[in-house]
Amino acid sequence: MLTWEQLEYVTKHCVKCSLCERRTNVVIDRGSRSAGIMFIGEGPGEQEDIQGKPFVGPAGQLLDRILSAAGFSENDVYIANIVKCRPPGNRDPLPSEQEACINYLRHQLLLVKPKIIVCLGRIAAQRIISPDFKITSQHGIWIERKGYYITAVYHPSALLRDESKKRPTWEDFKEIRKKYDSLFGEESAF
Ligand code: SF4
Repeated sequence: MLTWEQLEYVTKHCVKCSLCERRTNVVIDRGSRSAGIMFIGEGPGEQEDIQGKPFVGPAGQLLDRILSAAGFSENDVYIANIVKCRPPGNRDPLPSEQEACINYLRHQLLLVKPKIIVCLGRIAAQRIISPDFKITSQHGIWIERKGYYITAVYHPSALLRDESKKRPTWEDFKEIRKKYDSLFGEESAF
């Protein structure tokens, strides 16, 4: 298994897929590397590519507001993506690009050791949960796999395009908070 330093070095120099050709930065993560909950999106956008951090553009700012409303601070969460380099024009990362990059995310998962994984959007859910995952009908559903509790919510950029997705997403985040509290909440002594 790679250390954080090795992972940073290897990804920074990675040329395993053509997304390396136009990147400004390799985008690895933000948040706490010892968080109990990990959020996974599909790939960096324009602002993420410029700043070298995931979810820092308008969708990321919305995600931060939702996380804060659900009582999560930056120290409680770990945020990463399926691919580490920006797909041109914000297109979906191709299956071959996801395949080239997924091993880095596996290392991140092993290093962080969260108990909860939340897929942000269809692409992440189809890669992490099931290839035929339908985000419209299956968001908010929980599965347990290899000791991880896994669910998916709409991608925050979908909420920016469609206001009607905000309410069901908030309901999903309330359940995420409940799951987190059931796993990490402080127990009363009496
Ligand atoms: S997206 Fe992943 S696999 Fe492709 S060049 Fe970037 S780090 Fe390497």
